[in-house]
Amino acid sequence: MKFGGTSVGDATCIRRSAEIVANASREHSLAVVVSAMSGVTNRLIDAAHQAKRGDRDAGKTLAEALHRQHFEALAMLVSNEKSRMQVQHRIEEILGEGSRLYEGTALLRELTPRTLDSISSLGERLCAPVVSAALCDMGVASSAVEATELIVTDSFHGGAEPQADATRQRSHARIGPILNAGQVPVVTGFIGATADGVLTTLGRGGSDYSATILGAALDAEEIIIWTDVEGVLTADPRLVSEARTIAEISYREAAELAYFGAKVLHPKTLRPVLPAGIPVWIRNSFAPEKLGTKITQHGRSIGGGVKALTAIRDVALISVGGPGIVGVPDVVGRTFSTTAQLRAEVLLISQSSSQNDICFIVAKAHAQATLEALHREFAQDLAHQVVEHITMDPNIAIVAVVGENMRGTPGVAGRTFHALGREGVNIIAIAQGSSETNISFVVSDQSVKPALLATHREFGLGKLTSN
Ligand code: ASP
Ligand code: MG
Repeated sequence: MKFGGTSVGDATCIRRSAEIVANASREHSLAVVVSAMSGVTNRLIDAAHQAKRGDRDAGKTLAEALHRQHFEALAMLVSNEKSRMQVQHRIEEILGEGSRLYEGTALLRELTPRTLDSISSLGERLCAPVVSAALCDMGVASSAVEATELIVTDSFHGGAEPQADATRQRSHARIGPILNAGQVPVVTGFIGATADGVLTTLGRGGSDYSATILGAALDAEEIIIWTDVEGVLTADPRLVSEARTIAEISYREAAELAYFGAKVLHPKTLRPVLPAGIPVWIRNSFAPEKLGTKITQHGRSIGGGVKALTAIRDVALISVGGPGIVGVPDVVGRTFSTTAQLRAEVLLISQSSSQNDICFIVAKAHAQATLEALHREFAQDLAHQVVEHITMDPNIAIVAVVGENMRGTPGVAGRTFHALGREGVNIIAIAQGSSETNISFVVSDQSVKPALLATHREFGLGKLTSN
């Protein structure tokens, strides 16, 4: 079971989550993964950037605030004085480490990705002992474990990749005995370490990924991701009031949705569970009586082939082109090796057959760096006008229509674009992969809501599944 930031946001939330664990632990052997208390990671990172600018107080002020926040939660959750003192001591140790990291950063005015990882990991490291102690207080034997002891990754700081075999070995060695002793391990989400023990993070929002990495490594029967929404919805309910919870969805559909910004899951979350087909539930820790969404190998087929819609907004469209690139065979290769070098994830690609324009979408956070890198890569060609323009448009969004069963169902694209046309939504670019599990299109930012409403209605998604 993984509990996200809002599910461990304060003492009340932690207690509610701990009750879920306590109930489940009566019937099952289980391991818990926790995020930082909500907002903590952002605050840690903001203070790191302030320290980098030479601010010597930001880290100290934050450490004091986190000290108060975690002590306060602890006081409400743990009545046993001895165990409270142990956790207090641990919190102070971790914050002491944090303060030194901030001091070093302010002194050097330098923030390496490695240091930033160590700083941003503090939230999870503070949270796990508190949650574990809360469980003990409720009579559930538990111990806190840092994932640096379990998840072995490469050394790509800020978005490290796990190494499955080494992770499996360490997880069994460390977690096995805890489970065998009838205890519930509470593991820090989001972090791992290289084979030689240097702390890494799996990327923002990476605790979901931690949960499935560990679930797969420990051969879990199922993985439950407890969050603050009722599962995977047919669309963002803030934009589409008729949006419903989907009872069952396939890995592929869920991954498409996650990838396309339905903020329920970290995009890499489902990778580790694919080989063994472990089901993953998304459930609401604030409403545990609801079943949520079950993500399985095949999902459950519903009419029309379309399962859900999603929109991703913090993105920018980059185009490389002009008539001059026609027939230059390596433009595509060079463009995408440039994005690969930056590890800028490409969310959509479209190339028209006249070949004179390749456009693709990256997260806004990567857009400027990508644009600059492309200008460097094509400096020569731009000078000789082989490539005539490299431009960026940040005022756009991707909307994706997702459903595994639209494969081989004719008419989905037709209905989609007909509905959009009716609403007067202008389409800037279109992509559909041959896997046919999604049709994505790029629209201006203002058109997102009308585009979602029109397609949601067209496919009757408000009337379909719910539980
Ligand atoms: N605390 C980390 C973050 O905010 C990881 C997570 O919450 O999943 O990105
Ligand atoms: Mg989170």
